[in-house]
Amino acid sequence: METICPIDRKCASQISVLLHPSPPPLQVQEYFEELISSRQCRGIKVKQNGEFGKGVYADLDFKEDELILKDPMLVGIQHPSNKIDCLVCSFCFQFIGSIELQIGRKLYLQSLGLSASKVCDKEGISKDFCDSNSADEEDDCYVKECKRLRKCASSSPNGKVTLPKGVVQSLMNGELVLPHSEKFSLPPAISCPGGCGEAYYCSKTCAEADWESSHSLLCTGERSEALSREALSKFMQHADETNDIFLLAAKTISFTILRYRKLKAAHLKRQNKYTDPVELDCAELSLLLEAWKPVSIGYKRRWWECISLPDDVDRSDETAFRMEVRDLAFTSLQLLKAAIFDQECEPLFSLEIYGNIIGMFELNNLDLVVASPVEDYFLYIDDLPDPEKGEAEEVTQSFLDALGDGYSVCCQGTAFYPLQSCMNHSCCPNARAFKREEDKDGQATIIALRPISKGEEVTISYIEEDLPFEERQALLADYGFRCRCTKCLEEDTQLISKQEHIKKKLGFGEV
Ligand SMILES: [Zn+2]
Ligand SMILES: [Zn+2]
Ligand SMILES: [Zn+2]
Repeated sequence: METICPIDRKCASQISVLLHPSPPPLQVQEYFEELISSRQCRGIKVKQNGEFGKGVYADLDFKEDELILKDPMLVGIQHPSNKIDCLVCSFCFQFIGSIELQIGRKLYLQSLGLSASKVCDKEGISKDFCDSNSADEEDDCYVKECKRLRKCASSSPNGKVTLPKGVVQSLMNGELVLPHSEKFSLPPAISCPGGCGEAYYCSKTCAEADWESSHSLLCTGERSEALSREALSKFMQHADETNDIFLLAAKTISFTILRYRKLKAAHLKRQNKYTDPVELDCAELSLLLEAWKPVSIGYKRRWWECISLPDDVDRSDETAFRMEVRDLAFTSLQLLKAAIFDQECEPLFSLEIYGNIIGMFELNNLDLVVASPVEDYFLYIDDLPDPEKGEAEEVTQSFLDALGDGYSVCCQGTAFYPLQSCMNHSCCPNARAFKREEDKDGQATIIALRPISKGEEVTISYIEEDLPFEERQALLADYGFRCRCTKCLEEDTQLISKQEHIKKKLGFGEV
């Protein structure tokens, strides 16, 4: 039987306004102009064009390899399984701590996977691990963190060589300093002021910005503003076990609620105390719409309708599969609702809105990638002239061996980038997302692949553009369109004429 979400019914009219806000084009234009002026970019414009909705256009000439845009994310997450490999700021996603902490922490978490859950379940781990300075707040937090990561750790590849525990520990607590690591200094790891021990930041600024933007509602620590921290933990556990895209959806909802509360406070201040309640009621929806605006811009469809059918699911089971996905989203939403529900933002807790938010992430293929300074460090050591290289390697080689192939793993996640998501696809794009050496955080960086002249549309490729025509079209069908870029049009006519040629040869009727 089909799951029925009561809020879908109760808030039907508000939901339809949220999903089809049709804000006056001028307002959308204003929103993008504001966004562009707040970013590091030389000259682009977002324009509405009939066939594909929005598109990004060059407003200046760009040279090959020139930076077109740096686009900070609206919301983003690091994949839970990637948290073992990389310790990054939960807001800007740059690597934090030190090269030693990055390596030590990873080896430590890997060793937990090696000796399975028994080490982590017991207090043994906190003893082993924190004995030297058990009063240290940060070490305590790493222990909490590892408990949550345990599940992922057990499935992660382990290094070939195991190092003595004491060595790993001294890397983490700063007693052991690796040669030349000072050339790769990182900002300190500041733990979440809410006390969750799960989020770390590069600075107080990032900690505060994240708290205000979404984390105050999603923090599982003592200072959390969630309704129930227990419900929140259940929600997170469910997301870890099923699909981490739910964490991103929760961030989006939390972001909207917190924006709504700020807008409302400002509104009340303006109105003074004399507002009559009926008037406020009307204002609530328009405030919610305003709070939702950054999310409303993204192209959306219901998740269970736009998710592509996995290879191992038979076509005949498609309906059942989609129903199952919908049920899974509903279960996740109920857990989230128990954790952070806000009556004034009720429509956000409808399955319709939840499904559309997740669908937005599904349809906007926006990977979050930040290169690892640990990789740079080992490359630097490898490039040193002798005898410096030999001396350094006497210390570093055993760590490199213990890390195995995984030494270079970068920070990986999913994010929503407001401007990048407006860029249309082409199989012969004139731009690409590419991180240069100086791009060390989670912002999307778009670089010109060839000269682009003013007025030209800026396009990127959503897929591997060197694949054969049919494969490209199949992949793009997952994004809900058939590509008609110049390359596709050219290859399509070639394909048709080839087919016609074969038909003719075989003597199949008129062509
Ligand atoms: Zn940061
Ligand atoms: Zn927290
Ligand atoms: Zn194409």
